[in-house]
Amino acid sequence: LSVGVPRETFTNERRVALTPQNVQLLRKKGFGKVLVERNAGIHAQFLDESYAEAGATLVSREELFKDTDIMLKVRAPSLGQEVENIKEGSTLISFLYPAQNKSIVDALSARKVNALAMDMIPRISRAQVFDALSSMANISGYKAVLEASNHFGRFLTGQVTAAGKIPPGKVLVIGAGVAGLSAVTTAKRMGAIVRAFDTRSEAREQVQSLGAEFIEVSVKEEGGGGGGYAKVMSKEFIEAEMALFMEQCKDVDIVITTALIPGKPAPKLITNEMVAAMKQGSVIVDLAAETGGNCEATKPGELYVKDGVSIIGYTDLPSRLPTQSSTLYSNNITKFLLSLGEDSRFFLDAKDEVVRGSLIVHKGEILPPVPRTLPP
Ligand code: NAD
Repeated sequence: LSVGVPRETFTNERRVALTPQNVQLLRKKGFGKVLVERNAGIHAQFLDESYAEAGATLVSREELFKDTDIMLKVRAPSLGQEVENIKEGSTLISFLYPAQNKSIVDALSARKVNALAMDMIPRISRAQVFDALSSMANISGYKAVLEASNHFGRFLTGQVTAAGKIPPGKVLVIGAGVAGLSAVTTAKRMGAIVRAFDTRSEAREQVQSLGAEFIEVSVKEEGGGGGGYAKVMSKEFIEAEMALFMEQCKDVDIVITTALIPGKPAPKLITNEMVAAMKQGSVIVDLAAETGGNCEATKPGELYVKDGVSIIGYTDLPSRLPTQSSTLYSNNITKFLLSLGEDSRFFLDAKDEVVRGSLIVHKGEILPPVPRTLPP
């Protein structure tokens, strides 16, 4: 079977689905041909020469779409450009977000393909090595701190210098899931005073083990909804949480928000009033921008200054660290592909929980979504 890797065409997308190292691995595991579109990895610093050395065949876009049996992509294929050119009967593995991309799923079905969504792989222990959402969340958390620091006019670390004593910057992280904990780690390493908040009580220990302070409200309510996911909190809890954030906003220099509830719009936790209460030159990075934002003032995809506070709503943070995100994504997708069977043994076993969970279109048939253990 031939594996194919096209260049990503989504605006500002700098990632590539497969690195030269994984090309070599797939070849070793018996995949007859790995086709890579010319310049597919250039923005992630993976050059055509490296792909060729690793055993890939470099081809044009046309050839790639014509000859690929298993296509590996980062972004869902675009309508009117990519989906229609995917080979009939082939298999696609990429981020798909089927609930948000119904027309793409329909078009894939019309091409009679198999489509597996990286974002729908169940988060069970066995599938952790395929968990690209966690890989990207880890990068987003790290990059959020760097972006914040770039727009903050002071050190994050405290210093005593001949020119004077410099206090450390204070960072508040809201939501301590994968991205939040990564932001906590990064800000700690840069020397900041770090505080974090989450509705799930299990986050307390994780935050504290990273050397940060876990801040709490007096309202007792468990935010864990099973499977590590958060549930929607009571009005009373959210009010208490927001009162706490109002106080924190007056004190901290940087706020990084990552609060999400699966399948629900992001909770609005930082109001315009809180932004106005922040010190001149403070920074907010809103990692929930794509699903509406945790901060009332966020403009998705943009950076702007409001009341002296830089508000960063970038929705492409992993793509802003393209070599790292491509490497981790490539490792996830390669392990997933190899778990489906090497080369001639490639088989989609719909009885397998991981395959079934991520299989959106099977031989052209759109499958009903698998019920998840999601909070009510
Ligand atoms: P996420 O990106 O869906 O959400 C981010 C965080 O926001 C969560 O920690 C959530 O509790 C928090 N949140 C929601 N509402 C909030 C509010 N009102 N105020 C403050 N915080 C709020 O989360 P994630 O990164 O996917 O991780 C969630 C959990 O799932 C973590 O415990 C993680 O370790 C676990 N997880 C497990 C696996 C696995 O077992 N394979 C894989 C990935 C994640």
